Amino acid sequence: MDCIFCKIIKGDIPSGKVYENEKVYAFKDINPQAPVHILVVPKLHIDSCDMISAENSSYVSAIFEAIPAIAKEAGLSEGYRVITNCGAHGCQSVKHLHFHILGGKQLSEKMD
Ligand code: 5GP
Ligand code: ZN
Repeated sequence: MDCIFCKIIKGDIPSGKVYENEKVYAFKDINPQAPVHILVVPKLHIDSCDMISAENSSYVSAIFEAIPAIAKEAGLSEGYRVITNCGAHGCQSVKHLHFHILGGKQLSEKMD
């Protein structure tokens, strides 16, 4: 499968890794939208939020269990935002489920 995030997880494409465990990989976004912009992805290919199911949701819970440690390591003690874009209206550009962690500044109240 020609998936850029699967290639990053395998190490075929370099990335600024910040965290990894059995089910989760996290790395710096190549085009940061905030002083801290980290992408957290499941090591299992899941197309998007819309494809989460009972069969693969352990990867999603593993992501959310890892997020506090990732945020702490990134120095986000004042808070942060976690976002996933899904499908065309959600402006998802990479079709491998990922959660953006944004922080390091006061974020906008606006979410769309
Ligand atoms: P989306 O728009 O799908 O929610 O987010 C995709 C994100 O992946 C974007 O913020 C984009 O900057 C990031 N991205 C795309 N290709 C690469 C890459 O090769 N390396 C890294 N580190 N980030 C990428
Ligand atoms: Zn993938």
